[in-house]
Amino acid sequence: MNIPARLLQDLQQVKGFNEEAFIAAHQQPAVTSVRLHPVKHSKAFAANEQVPWCSEGRYLNERPVFTLDPLYHAGAYYVQEASSMFLQQVLKETVSDNNNLRVLDLCAAPGGKSTLLASFLGPDSLLISNEVIRTRASILEENMTRWGYMNTWVTSNDPRDLARLTGYFDVIVVDAPCSGSGLFRKDARALDEWSEANVQLCSQRQQRILADVWPALKEDGVLIYATCSYSPQEDEQILDWLATELDVTGIKVSSNAEWGVVETTSGRGLHGYRFSPDKVKGEGFFIAALRKTSAADSMRPVRYKTLHDKKAHQQSSYLLHTDFLCLQADKESYHAINPIHEADWHQLQGKVYLRKTGVQLGIPTAKDWLPAHDVALSINRSASLPSIELSKEQALKFLRKEDFDLPTANKGWFLLTYNGLGLGWIKSLGNRFNNYLPKHWRIRMEIPDADWE
Ligand code: SAM
Repeated sequence: MNIPARLLQDLQQVKGFNEEAFIAAHQQPAVTSVRLHPVKHSKAFAANEQVPWCSEGRYLNERPVFTLDPLYHAGAYYVQEASSMFLQQVLKETVSDNNNLRVLDLCAAPGGKSTLLASFLGPDSLLISNEVIRTRASILEENMTRWGYMNTWVTSNDPRDLARLTGYFDVIVVDAPCSGSGLFRKDARALDEWSEANVQLCSQRQQRILADVWPALKEDGVLIYATCSYSPQEDEQILDWLATELDVTGIKVSSNAEWGVVETTSGRGLHGYRFSPDKVKGEGFFIAALRKTSAADSMRPVRYKTLHDKKAHQQSSYLLHTDFLCLQADKESYHAINPIHEADWHQLQGKVYLRKTGVQLGIPTAKDWLPAHDVALSINRSASLPSIELSKEQALKFLRKEDFDLPTANKGWFLLTYNGLGLGWIKSLGNRFNNYLPKHWRIRMEIPDADWE
């Protein structure tokens, strides 16, 4: 791999940069890692080597075809680059309590940071996982559904629109679109598309995004800024821009010397954390945490009548084990949120585009309730739902929406599980069944013979 000369030149000024080691590390393959779900326990990768800065992070010796693992589809783990899991360490050191927080993940697709945030936050906290690009927002929605948390809501708004939520968030994570040099080993396109001009363009876009969303952070709130770029123009120089334009102080995050993370200091004294594959077991990454020191306007509380639908709640409450609030999303379908977040729901409803709030419950029919796919993947689903455990072959056939035999004498709805984790619904008609896996969730790839078992 030929690293662009201009990038190497820019990196000469970076603390700890060792050109020879950096180039040599880029001749090695990328590291593969996953982050385990803290609630959906499974045997998958649990015994593997731990990513040192993340309790649920695990290294893999090789990259399997994740699509062929039903546990991946059940949300037992998320495939995430190891360096970016340092967000867990940053959260532990900057947020004293993980409950009653309002957190925004502004640039969230496909969902790596958001699934980590969801795992970190307590149930009374609210995570708004936002992605401006609609097609990417649907991937985000799918990944957050798979992760299964009721207190994660997916939105699709421009950062400017989220500024309407003045002083609302305790934590804002901006994992900014960047020139992507940190991903050279993972993605050949990142190398092909790298240019000095693009670094400049990204730097300006990053400033615009940060300035746009800034009003939404409350006083003393924490901004976590990250990129997967090595370029100081997108890293330390952005911290300096923040220190010049906005009222911030830096937050120091501790790390073990053995981890190989390089703490850098921007010209204006703000701390940043650099990850480089010649020093850490992971890809290129940069992260920094800052505190807002200026006052922020707060939003007026809204008056509202509860939209909790008691009748639908009674009908659907067998689906979930938690005490939830049942709201009607549109004319037909219902969704469940934590009752503590009802005021938030009303407040946000009028101001931003909410794509998915909480767990979709499904649709009532004349004599029945059509359960939503969300419920099957929710960590709050009731443990007493009628369910059928599948073999790997059956699970893959279900996920491909192929025919397969199931010994279901009884009629009605059944949750299909694999290793005890929900995969989706079928409705049994006695002698046959209908597969209710949403079409766009279907595995499309052909499955090699050896992978059925
Ligand atoms: N946080 C994600 C994760 O951990 O999986 C990765 C985010 S990626 C580095 C940056 C995201 O910013 C992309 O999903 C991209 O679509 C989005 N984006 C692009 N332009 C943007 C803009 N002008 N404002 C906000 N987000 C933008």
